[in-house]
Order: sequence, then structure tokens, then C-alpha cells
Amino acid sequence: MSTTGQIIRCKAAVAWEAGKPLVMEEVEVAPPQKHEVRIKILFTSLCHTDVYFWEAKGQTPLFPRIFGHEAGGIVESVGEGVTDLQPGDHVLPIFTGECGDCPHCHSEESNMCDLLRINTERGGMIHDGESRFSINGKPIHHFLGTSTFSEYTVVHSGQVAKINPDAPLDKVCIVSCGLSTGLGATLNVAKPKKGQSVAIFGLGAVGLAAAEGARIAGASRIIGVDLNSQRFDQAKEFGVTEFVNPRDHDKPVQQVIAEMTNGGVDRSVECTGSVQAMIQAFECVHDGWGVAVLVGVPSKDDAFKTHPMNFLNERTLKGTFSGNYKPKTDMPGVVEKYMNKELELEKFITHTVPFSEINKAFDYMLKGESIRCIITMGA
Ligand code: NAD
Ligand code: ZN
Repeated sequence: MSTTGQIIRCKAAVAWEAGKPLVMEEVEVAPPQKHEVRIKILFTSLCHTDVYFWEAKGQTPLFPRIFGHEAGGIVESVGEGVTDLQPGDHVLPIFTGECGDCPHCHSEESNMCDLLRINTERGGMIHDGESRFSINGKPIHHFLGTSTFSEYTVVHSGQVAKINPDAPLDKVCIVSCGLSTGLGATLNVAKPKKGQSVAIFGLGAVGLAAAEGARIAGASRIIGVDLNSQRFDQAKEFGVTEFVNPRDHDKPVQQVIAEMTNGGVDRSVECTGSVQAMIQAFECVHDGWGVAVLVGVPSKDDAFKTHPMNFLNERTLKGTFSGNYKPKTDMPGVVEKYMNKELELEKFITHTVPFSEINKAFDYMLKGESIRCIITMGA
């Protein structure tokens, strides 16, 4: 029986309060409106960005909310005006979109779409500002326009990447955020030349994907920096060649790295969300040519402080969302890299849990045990 145009009742993991375990609820998911798509989510995973906004320590709280933005699923139905997607398409919802019409979408250099760029404060859909989720008539806020911790979700069609239907969604779901973000931060933004040295701050999924990018680019040395030494063994599999735990040193980590590399690394990529690490990642690049790229999501009151002389000495600081990949134009190609065996995804997946045990995925991340934990819907 077709569900098109009907309200769907399904399970969703609702965050009622900051930092409190998610609660499995039956929610009502309204049909997709103009330029929207309703997706049956099959697999989702947890990214640290979900955890920050759920904890809401350094971010604006907005509850009740359905988190989740790294996922894979199948289109159930489409709203008015959607011409490039149809029921049955295999898709990745993406937290930043591509309207196709704005100056950013026309620029080869930007993925910061005017209409659909990341907006962490928005709790409803762009079309009418309303939520498509409710419980007994009470609206539940969306997160990043994706809200994938629900068996069904409604997403703007510009935030939906149609991918190869042969790609296993339980693996390629991680392409929708963490993997592409790290990979693209290195390949599209830091752009190390063959033989250069790269420092990666933070060895979670995003940082390890950045290391994977450095390996693909032919970096000679990949220096991993993390406060959690347990990450170092895992990171060897990702081509990280040397490790620095800032806690093992009395001097600033910038200085430790400068001494290891005769003046600084050629490129650095920060994937921690710590403003201290962001400053360190910038100050550890070589003068004259070094480029640092910020990827971690800062707290709302953070400020980046460095001496202007660090810029005058010809260091470059950049930042990126989603590794500068445009969701519709570029993401399907990242999935193809996996299908062509140029990219390994399996090694990022350290845990799997059924949807009913989604809170375990938060525990694994908070304890620093998981790289990525895949959450299987319908289980
Ligand atoms: P994660 O928790 O799996 O990994 C973060 C790692 O950083 C951990 O291993 C932690 O020990 C380490 N770390 C924390 N503070 C540190 C410090 N001061 N110095 C060195 N290491 C430190 O998280 P993740 O899912 O890999 O995400 C990493 C970051 O990227 C988060 O801030 C997340 O919000 C952000 N992110 C950004 C984008 C984007 O498009 N810009 C997309 C996805 C995630
Ligand atoms: Zn993310």
C-alpha cells in the first residue's frame, strides 16, 4: 500500500533535553512539501557534531529535537517540484545543500549554497519554517535539515545526493558527512603536494579520513596529534606515520612539530573542535608556504587568537564544511571511489548497534572508543 501523501507513523530517537539519553518514540512524519523528499533511513551513524548540539554545552540548545545527519536511505516519496529524484532512489542526506542557482552553486570554489548552507539553529523546514515531525500534535525540531535518527525523515531535495544503487548503504552512509569532510579537507582544501608532510589534529573518523586524503595525495609524513593515545594504534592502518600526544610534552605542540619537521609541516588539518588545537594546527605549519585547514566545529563563544606575524610570515589559514564537496555534484563520485576500491570504508566502522540501542553509540563516542558506529534502523 502506497504511503505517498499520507502521514507515516514510525520510530524516532527523540532528544527531549540536553545531555539526556534519547528516547524511542512513535512520531508522525508529514508528507514532503514543495522541493522536499521523504526518505526511509536504513542506516545512520553518529558524528561528533550531533553530540555537541545534544550536549548543548557550547551551543544554542533547541529541544525536543531529532538529531542525526550521517545516513543512507531510499526515497519513499517526493513533494511538488522535485524532478531529479523519485521513489526508490538510493540517497545520502547531506547537512549542506546545493540549490543549483546561487553564486556559490555556480562557483567551482564554493559549496556554501546561499539557500541550503549548514544552519545549526534552524529547527524547521525552509519552505514554511514548520517541522514535519510531531508527537500528538506537538512539533519536534529538525537538526541540520536531515534528522536521520528516525525511520523516516523529510529533507530538502537540494540536500539529497542520489548514489549508485549497488553501493552498500551500511558502509557508504559514512560518506554523507565524516568521510567526505576529512577526505575533502585534505584533497580539496589543504591540497598537499606529493612528498609533503601533513599533520592531522584529532584522529576520529574525520581526522582519519583526512589522513586517508594525505595518503592518497602521496604525503611523505603524516603526523597524527591526539590527546587520546589509544587512537594511535588504529591510526597506523590509515597511513599515519608518527604520533604526538600533546600531554606527553612540556612544550607547546607547535614547537614539538616544528622540531620534528625542520621548521613546520607543509600542511595541517584540524579535526577536533578544540579552539586550542585550531590555533596549534595553524601555528605548526611552515612559514613561507604552510597551509592549515580548520574542520572541527567550535563552541559558540570561541575566539581564534594568534599573532598577526604568523600570517605575515606567509602561512595560510582556511576552513571548510563538508570538505568543499557539493552534495549533489560531488558526493556520488566519492561513493564511486569506494565502489572502485580507491577508498576503504570498512576500517572506519568499529561498532554497530540496532536502532533501539542508539544511546550506546553516544557512549562509544564519548569514551573515545569508536571511530564510527553504524546504527541499523528497523532493528
Ligand atoms: P571524534 O570525537 O571521533 O574525534 C575527535 C578526536 O579529537 C578525538 O580522538 C579526540 O581525542 C581528539 N581531540 C579533542 N581535543 C583535542 C585536542 N585539543 N588536541 C588533539 N586532539 C584532540 O569526532 P569526529 O566525528 O571525527 O569529528 C571531528 C570534528 O569535526 C568535530 O569537531 C566535528 O564536529 C567536526 N566536523 C566538522 C565537519 C565540517 O564539515 N566542518 C563535518 C563533520 C564533523
Ligand atoms: Zn557531521
